Amino acid sequence: MTKNMATMKGSKINAVNSWSSQILGKFGRSDKVMLAERKCSCKYFDNIKIPCGHAMLAADGVGVPYDTLCGHWYKTTVWRETYAGVI
Ligand SMILES: [Zn+2]
Repeated sequence: MTKNMATMKGSKINAVNSWSSQILGKFGRSDKVMLAERKCSCKYFDNIKIPCGHAMLAADGVGVPYDTLCGHWYKTTVWRETYAGVI
């Protein structure tokens, strides 16, 4: 996620409304993030279920914590339970 954020430096956020944002990338790319649906037009967010750089920028813009955007299976507690037997 930190890496995602780093790649987004120089991008601009264009808030459409609080749960839907348009991110203008530094390469002239424009992506639309829908935080409420946990979707982004780059498809990374949809498929991997962790926020892409666009989603993180959008979350920053509306003051939403990043961890609320992650799929529940990425939460540390779930991870610990899953690997408790292994470790
Ligand atoms: Zn994205």
